[in-house]
Amino acid sequence: MRPPMTASTAKTILRILDAPQPHWVGDGFLVHPLFADAAFTQEVSPFLMFDYAAPVKFPPADKPPGVGPHPHKGFETITIVYAGELEHRDSAGHSGQIGPGDVQWMTAGSGLLHEEFHAREAAKRGGLVSMSQLWVNLPKRDKSAAPRYQDIRASDIPNVAVPGGQGVVRVIAGSFHGHKGPASTFTRVHVWDMRLKKGDRFTITLDAGDAALLPVLSGRVHINGETEVAATRCITFSQAGASFELEALEDALLLFLGGEPIDEPIAAYGPFVMNTQDEIRDAIMEFRAGKMGTL
Ligand code: MN
Repeated sequence: MRPPMTASTAKTILRILDAPQPHWVGDGFLVHPLFADAAFTQEVSPFLMFDYAAPVKFPPADKPPGVGPHPHKGFETITIVYAGELEHRDSAGHSGQIGPGDVQWMTAGSGLLHEEFHAREAAKRGGLVSMSQLWVNLPKRDKSAAPRYQDIRASDIPNVAVPGGQGVVRVIAGSFHGHKGPASTFTRVHVWDMRLKKGDRFTITLDAGDAALLPVLSGRVHINGETEVAATRCITFSQAGASFELEALEDALLLFLGGEPIDEPIAAYGPFVMNTQDEIRDAIMEFRAGKMGTL
């Protein structure tokens, strides 16, 4: 027997977002946009957008699939690799390659150009590629931060056993049961890569008022013992309340996203996310004038 959670402590489900059909990003990533129509709204703050590329088998290619040079400004992009190898290069002089379990945490901040491809050598062999990309907003005070690139290796990320269960919670940012993630963030953000086993059941407890989002990438889960959610959907929770119960009804791959909402206006236009339309116009001018650098 489990005591029922009381209304004052339990987070409740706001919506279960149903992603539209997957679409191609460049020729490298077939993504499910899991925030659906809640992307770039306060409902998902401090996050902006979340794309999940389920595993796709690519044929061998001399020219790596991916996305050529494009700008970003005013936020951060976080790329998590599940399968395959990705290669990245930006106009701030950063470059790198990440593989399964690795994370690239890129701060676009004041603005940069970058490109995102399958790694050249891996593309020649072909094979499965699966990844996700999360956009985290920056508060007004940090939108002009210098571009930065955190290359987070799988071995840097704590693997925390699910309490009383068989699965693993990989803490990329924030903290889970006292284990801190390696990512340095501008606001308080939790990003946990959760690989649950059927039957895992535990409570996630957050600071009061925190955002909580749960994209289900594969498998099926039960929330608060009453609502079943399957891939590829994303649960948005009330900011009110501190905790919810999560149970894996089958082996499941999820991301938990949480932290402090950024309570500021969002002006989003393609790869630029600012606070006002005037700032968006300025960003477009900076990009056209070549002020975000060259590749
Ligand atoms: Mn990009």
